[in-house]
Amino acid sequence: MTHTDASPDTRLGDALAALSLEEKVQLLTGRDFWTTWPLERIGLRRILVSDGPSGVRGETWDERDPSLNLPSATALASSWDPGIARRYGAAAAVEARRKGVDVVLGPTINLHRSPLGGRHFECFSEDPVLTADLAAAYVEGVQANGVGATPKHYVANDFETERFTVDVRADDRTLRELYLLAFEKAVVHARAWLVMSSYNSINGTTASENPLLETPLNSEWGFDGVVVSDWTGVRSLESARAAQDLVMPGPQGPWGDALVAAVRAGEIDESVVDRKVLRILLLAQRVGALPGTAPAEPVLVEDGVALAREAAVEGTVLLENRGELPWNAGALRSVAVIGNNASAARTQGGGSATVIPAYTVSPLEGLRAALPGVDVTYSVGAVVQEGVAELPLRELTHPGSGEPGLQARFLDEDGAELFVEDRRSSTLVYFGGDAPIEAAADFELTTRWTPSDSGVVQLGVGLVGTVRLYVDDELLVDERLRASDGALGAAFTNPPSASAEVRVTAGTPVDLRLVYDLRRRTGFGARALSLRLGTRPTDADADALIADAARAAAAADVALVVVGTNPVVESEGYDRSTLALPGRQDDLVRAVVAANPRTVVLVNAGAPVLLPWRDDVAALLLGWFGGQEFGTTIADVLLGVAEPGGRLPTTWPAAEADVPVLSCTPVDGALEYAEGIHIGYRAWLRAGAEPAYWFGSGRGYAQIDLTGVEAPAAARAGEVVTVTVEVVNRSDRDGKQVVQVYAERPGSAVDRPVRWLVGSAPVRVPAGGTARVPVEVHTRLLAHWADGWVYEPGGYRLRVGTSAVELPLETALDLGG
Ligand code: BGC
Repeated sequence: MTHTDASPDTRLGDALAALSLEEKVQLLTGRDFWTTWPLERIGLRRILVSDGPSGVRGETWDERDPSLNLPSATALASSWDPGIARRYGAAAAVEARRKGVDVVLGPTINLHRSPLGGRHFECFSEDPVLTADLAAAYVEGVQANGVGATPKHYVANDFETERFTVDVRADDRTLRELYLLAFEKAVVHARAWLVMSSYNSINGTTASENPLLETPLNSEWGFDGVVVSDWTGVRSLESARAAQDLVMPGPQGPWGDALVAAVRAGEIDESVVDRKVLRILLLAQRVGALPGTAPAEPVLVEDGVALAREAAVEGTVLLENRGELPWNAGALRSVAVIGNNASAARTQGGGSATVIPAYTVSPLEGLRAALPGVDVTYSVGAVVQEGVAELPLRELTHPGSGEPGLQARFLDEDGAELFVEDRRSSTLVYFGGDAPIEAAADFELTTRWTPSDSGVVQLGVGLVGTVRLYVDDELLVDERLRASDGALGAAFTNPPSASAEVRVTAGTPVDLRLVYDLRRRTGFGARALSLRLGTRPTDADADALIADAARAAAAADVALVVVGTNPVVESEGYDRSTLALPGRQDDLVRAVVAANPRTVVLVNAGAPVLLPWRDDVAALLLGWFGGQEFGTTIADVLLGVAEPGGRLPTTWPAAEADVPVLSCTPVDGALEYAEGIHIGYRAWLRAGAEPAYWFGSGRGYAQIDLTGVEAPAAARAGEVVTVTVEVVNRSDRDGKQVVQVYAERPGSAVDRPVRWLVGSAPVRVPAGGTARVPVEVHTRLLAHWADGWVYEPGGYRLRVGTSAVELPLETALDLGG
């Protein structure tokens, strides 16, 4: 940031003094979905905020202005690499600057408390320390490039069921040691410019009014930034008394005139308003929205697409390898690629985190590109998609221009055109932007569709409201669709759909016209629009699909089955009802394995799914939602061009019944975090239960062993010690290992996890090489919370290894006493 004249504080004080109470209060509620109010009198321009966090969408949700689609947070977390997280944050900031965005609404740093959480693809891990390390690095990367980062959602927003209203009950120790920890590091260490308060209540008070916004965030951690609400999360005038600073979205909201009146009546002190305004002005100064300030020049710019690929490689977890991988490209003649997600891959999760990439590479495309001359067949194998999926752009022609695309029109009561635009996607979201959504009576979408295949298809629409769909002017669908549970996110990102059968002929165009009735829509929903025109899978013979895939596998040298979730299973707005893969995918894998023992399975999911056939496959890879370069990455990993660098950031269960902390379902509006500090691998260890794959596990193609550890024997409370770990690469390949240090405190006077992560470091070791890896361990992580951080004196055992249970080395640390 550069300043041309007076010191920042004086300048902000002067700016504040120049404002009337009305202007100050106006500044505390957004102007619209994504911006704050400009105040020309003090030269303040608007501040534009935007979702990410895996890329940055920009002001509109529009395929004509695409964004970099980085791998999702669970993939990033699997790298265990703060260096990658920093560059990932920097790439998001560069995207933000390119799109005029001042603030990225991320990272999402809630914890994977139960694997059923629907939004876990967007969060890092079940472990607070790994989450904290990556969160801080992400924030640093964003802010070093002059863009604000917004760790969210503060706090205990670890599931989606009843997310607007649920009361999470958790004791102070649990909050401090688990759910607040990553926020603490993002604020204290990385100096985050914003924090987003969550929708839920914590111990009886909704987040936007909760005393936790003041203590520890401000009073202990020294936060000087802006607490922005989650969208519509501020519900009362009362919240103005709390350390909640900015209400989003605007322009309506519970503060406004009511707050002006409360100040005038002496009910709320004007200094309360001033404190919030000063924070917003400081943010404005940081992002260069005030005269004489400019955001930092981007300092870390790199090829975003190359980073997307690298981050995906570093996040790909090899869970099983029975001598199968990497494949030798030169020796392959044929590969059977199987699975819905092999061609319709999920590169990101659904919800507000959605960005629209310019392109995506599916595993099928990636493999075909990497294996010219090899016969790469494709079979869908099983139906995974639920609801309608958009039509491919190459099959759509704009009715006027003849170019690929569609025409979207907003019409008034008399059918007169209020707004028209040409679009290139049959999934459209209007959420901000110029379209007159509230003024229009109808929305109309037209296109000429030339199907690539002949047959009977289910053609339809997904949206909430009343819609008619015409095919060649004949009414095909006439429905009123309701959101299943009124959940804003779900209705928006994954609306209900209706479809009907229609017979089409390859190459013969049909005219499609969709008319969406925009009258009678109320509240928040009336200002936004989300719809999809597309096809739903027909009720094909599931056994025949599996048999076809098995035949293809039998005829090929090797098979790759890509299994995964769909947007109905994993998205913002709701949790999962099961960890099982949707559809007949388990049967599919079993049949393909039976047909070809050289079957590799790739999992395309953002959070744990059950893999009951995992012991029978030749190799098992977890690619998460791998970003727009997913397929390129997978090909590189399968063919050994790249080393799978990921280790699990979350324990993967073998069966739902084994999961120690599973429920995300509130009872009478509340969810008790009764397990306290025991979530994730801590809970599995305490229960003595055996998951399918432990936290921290995963392997590379190289064999890198841990051979020695050195550490000081004693440390003072609050000190940071360095544990140095020796590693040896015993293979002829360069590789990566993730060194993990866990603490144990047998005989503790307080309840403790069996062991808990206190430090980690990724290391790359050349073939045959050795390395000494320094791992920083903060003794604060040995303390427990009891109305303050308490350091139990005496000895702690430090266990060193490559997962929560593979711990070949150990050392002891004495905290005195
Ligand atoms: C989500 C936030 C997001 C906001 C704005 C909310 O529904 O919970 O994570 O930043 O919408 O899109």
